[in-house]
Amino acid sequence: MALTGLDIFKLLPKTNCKKCGKPTCLAFAMALAQKRAKLEECPDVSEEAKEKLAAAAAPPMLKVQFGSGDNQVTIGQETVCFRHEEKFHSPTVIGVTVSDKLNGADLKNRLDSINALQFERIGVKIGVQAVAVVNDSGSAETFAQTTEAVKKECDYALILVTKSPDALAAAAKKVKDSVPLLAQATPETAQEMAKIAKENNCPLVATADSLEALADLTEKIKAEGVEDIVLCPPAGTKGEMKDLLKNLSDIRILALKKVFRPLGYPTISFVTGVDDDTQMASAASLICKYSGIVVVDTVEPYAILPLLTVVMNIYTDPQKPVQVEPKVYSIGEPDENSPLMFTTNFSLTYYTVESDVEASRVPSYILVVDTEGTSVLTAYSGDKLNEKTVAEAMAKYGVENLVKHRKLIIPGYVAVMSGKLEEATNWEVLVGPRECSMLPKYLQEVWN
Ligand code: SF4
Repeated sequence: MALTGLDIFKLLPKTNCKKCGKPTCLAFAMALAQKRAKLEECPDVSEEAKEKLAAAAAPPMLKVQFGSGDNQVTIGQETVCFRHEEKFHSPTVIGVTVSDKLNGADLKNRLDSINALQFERIGVKIGVQAVAVVNDSGSAETFAQTTEAVKKECDYALILVTKSPDALAAAAKKVKDSVPLLAQATPETAQEMAKIAKENNCPLVATADSLEALADLTEKIKAEGVEDIVLCPPAGTKGEMKDLLKNLSDIRILALKKVFRPLGYPTISFVTGVDDDTQMASAASLICKYSGIVVVDTVEPYAILPLLTVVMNIYTDPQKPVQVEPKVYSIGEPDENSPLMFTTNFSLTYYTVESDVEASRVPSYILVVDTEGTSVLTAYSGDKLNEKTVAEAMAKYGVENLVKHRKLIIPGYVAVMSGKLEEATNWEVLVGPRECSMLPKYLQEVWN
């Protein structure tokens, strides 16, 4: 938990010397708590106070990265339990398993299917980001060979899953440049697994039968010199999902609210060996309740896309709607006689309009007005969409050089602004349909 101004005040010299530029130590403490000042600005603060303040300022949940280059992924560094308090920072990574029992064409087919799990939603590219190689064969050599083959064929970050230190050492050595996530150390194998993680400079997953044992295990691994740890909390004795969800929630609360450092790490969960529908339901719950990585074994796009959609929705900053760039978009190959219409830069609004214009098969221009990511009616009622903002966007993006008819189609919901818009622009304003689903009919019948 962050220190309050009063907590910080207790650690300051309390001489009110003003060298920090603040009138009193209390004023400086308050500024520090609100991150409007830096501790170095007080030249007289003691070393002991510096240490205590630095420890308190450390993030309650560690950031862990694995993978390399463009495929590096980041998990952890969360600061709140509920997204409305601020936002969630590191979107859940979805990983898919590859068994090291696969080889030849079977392995290639599996990797091709995993590589294809990339999608575009409201203009944002989303997809699987990790592949988890599982040591089902029990052979260290086979595990290492399969891991190497997966690395060659797949651009995703790697997770190496085995309980055998020998297998982990063999595979990690082959792909250490890719910085794989090593899974997983148990209380029994902690020392050996930590040694492998340290030698290869890779993060390590820790797993135990209870949260108490998991906390002890992370301390043990840390004592071996491994800082980057990912927690794999236990499910119930029969693998019950409700116990796993409770453990994930407890970890989050203990890490953030109680600043319990031994559990202040991101998490990983596995949902495998069950049918696709169960995987979807369980994985969606795990995404909502704090799992930093969710590994599934389905490669069905119909099962993966909803999970990625959940991630996208949960991890969107609730204070910043998803936006598209304000500019003029060409749909098809419009010319100087093509219709020109405007909408706002709220992604969902824009892509809905775009798909309906595409469906009309009438090449068109869509002018996107910057309304700070709000929809047409919200922007209009908040005065972010008015004759002035539309006229400015028309001038800024040079629409008069695109069409010669000087006609602008406006959304039916803001028909009320048509008079003022005509005055502000000297263009003829045509009121389009209220619902953009009617745009194809409008463009084909009214415009043409
Ligand atoms: S410089 Fe330090 S001791 Fe002096 S007023 Fe500021 S906080 Fe207090």
